[in-house]
Amino acid sequence: TEELLRKTEKLHVAGQLAAGIAHEIRNPLTALKGFVKLMCHANEESKLRYYHIMQEEFNRIELILGELLILAKPQAVAYMPHDPVTILEEVIQLLNTEAIMNNVEIVLIANTIHSFVNCERNQIKQVFVNVIKNAIEAMPSGGILTITAYNQANGVNLQFVDQGQGISEDRLPRIGEPFYTTKEKGTGLGMMVSFTIIEEHHGVIRYQSKLGVGTTVSIQLPSSAQ
Ligand code: ADP
Ligand code: MG
Repeated sequence: TEELLRKTEKLHVAGQLAAGIAHEIRNPLTALKGFVKLMCHANEESKLRYYHIMQEEFNRIELILGELLILAKPQAVAYMPHDPVTILEEVIQLLNTEAIMNNVEIVLIANTIHSFVNCERNQIKQVFVNVIKNAIEAMPSGGILTITAYNQANGVNLQFVDQGQGISEDRLPRIGEPFYTTKEKGTGLGMMVSFTIIEEHHGVIRYQSKLGVGTTVSIQLPSSAQ
C-alpha cells in the first residue's frame, strides 16, 4: 500500500505541475492571440510596439519550455564519474560576466577535492547554473559569492554562500515548488528542476538563510566509488 500511496502522490504532483505549465503558457499565449488580432488594424507605430510585446511573450514561452526540457531525459543518459570542481569552474566562467556586471565576485575554494561523482554532466551543470544565478540575483547591489567544495565520508559537499537579501523562514519551504518565484521575471522553475536532478543523483540539497544576511545552499553528492 505504501507503493500505491507513493504512486498516487506522484500523480498528484504531476497533475499540479501540468496545471502550472498550462497556466504559465496560456498567459503569454492569450496575450499573443490578442495582439495578433490588434495587429490587423493597427497603424505602423502601434504595430512596432505590439511586435516588441509579442517578442517578449514568445521569449517567455521559450524560457519556460527551455527550463522544463532540462528535466526530460537526454537521449542517452550518460552517468559518468566527473570531478564536480571542474564542472563548477566551467559554470563560473560561464556566469562570470553576469556576475561582474552585478558587482558580484565569485570565490571558489576547492583545494582538497579528490572525489569524483557519478553524474549526468549537463544536469549537474544546470543545477550549478541555477544556484549561482539565484545567488547573483539575490545581491542586486553586489557582494561576494563564496563556493566551497570539500570531501566528506562518502562524497562531496558543495556550499554556495551568498550575501544576498536572504529568505524568510515562512518562505523557505516554498523553494522548489513549481512556479514559486518572488522575481518579476522569474519562472520559479530553476529550483524545482535542480531539486529533481539532485534527487535523481541520490544527493541532498539544503537551504539555510537569514533575512538581510544571506543564503547558504549546500549540495551533497555521493562519490562514484560507492
Ligand atoms: P526564479 O529564480 O525564477 O525565481 P527559482 O526556482 O530559481 O526561480 O527560485 C525560486 C525562489 O527562491 C526565488 O524567486 C527566490 O525568491 C528564492 N531564492 C532562491 N535562491 C535564493 C537565494 N540565493 N537568495 C534569496 N532567495 C533565493
Ligand atoms: Mg532561479
